[in-house]
Amino acid sequence: MTFPFEIGGPSFRARQVRAWVFQRFARTFDEMTDLPLGEREQLAKRYPSIRPEPLQTWDADGGETRKALFDGSYEAVAMRYPDRRTVCISSQAGCGLGCTFCATGQMGLVRNLNAWEIVSQVLWAGRVFADRPTNVVLMGMGEPLANYDNIVEAIRSINDDVGISARKMTVSTVGLVPQIERLADEPLPVTLALSLHAPDDETRSSLVPINRRWPVADCIKAVKAFRRAHGRRVTIEYAMIDSVNDSSWQAKRLADLLKGSDIHVNLIPLNPTPGFGVPASPRVDAFMRELRGLGVNVTVRDTRGRDIDAACGQLAADAIASA
Ligand code: SAH
Ligand code: SF4
Repeated sequence: MTFPFEIGGPSFRARQVRAWVFQRFARTFDEMTDLPLGEREQLAKRYPSIRPEPLQTWDADGGETRKALFDGSYEAVAMRYPDRRTVCISSQAGCGLGCTFCATGQMGLVRNLNAWEIVSQVLWAGRVFADRPTNVVLMGMGEPLANYDNIVEAIRSINDDVGISARKMTVSTVGLVPQIERLADEPLPVTLALSLHAPDDETRSSLVPINRRWPVADCIKAVKAFRRAHGRRVTIEYAMIDSVNDSSWQAKRLADLLKGSDIHVNLIPLNPTPGFGVPASPRVDAFMRELRGLGVNVTVRDTRGRDIDAACGQLAADAIASA
């Protein structure tokens, strides 16, 4: 990753700065105490901040979850668990794909983030954890595969510069089939997650409009091919919506779709968003048991950060307006 600033000086100077930025999560040149004072002051004056800084942050879950708003338009969430440190990062400000139950989709697309803005969210989390994150999930705002070149550049930098293996990164996609195929051809062993949300085209099209372009069967075929190309396990995300996608026949249809694969299903309790009136399904556990009974590997996702609109699908960067 080339920095969006010029350091100058001898080549070991660049190495020093890179270590401060990527390993010690420095925010300013002032912090880089092993640089000669004169150079440090000059750089600090020219570049008061070296990466995008949050305008505002919020804490939840007893301080174990923190959300940050950047540039008034995109957000990241740092989550501390007993056994891991996960950061959920955004690939776009807003999203143009309009999934009905998603707050980001409800706001529309503002812009693509560049690779530095994407990597910087991971560096922010490193600072929050006072340690390198163990897991990075591209599950914040936006559709990663609609900003393909920038997310691939960012993943490479997070792997090479920050030192978090691509294996510890998950790219979540709404199902842009040509880009899934393209990602399968890259030597990047990331985990892929497909936001399916329904096993039948009628229901899925009503929730995820892009399903009209790349329907369920095409998406499943593409993730199975990704699995074969990379040997990386694929996950299906499924937000549980009352009387929409939580019936027994849908559990059966989903199990049929996944038959003969080791695809893992992650059920997400629907989080409330302003523009979607249907409540969360009360059948999350029942649906999980039905899937298990049909031989499907399934878990339920936690709802970290709900109180601060930081849970899945709730990121909308409306904080400044409402603050
Ligand atoms: N655009 C990508 C990644 C960001 S969304 C994608 O769609 O996969 C991360 C996950 O949260 C997706 O599975 C998304 O469908 C889900 N999600 C969106 N709105 C939600 C809501 N209100 N409750 C629960 N999950 C939601
Ligand atoms: Fe975009 Fe993903 Fe939200 Fe759909 S669920 S609108 S693709 S961010």
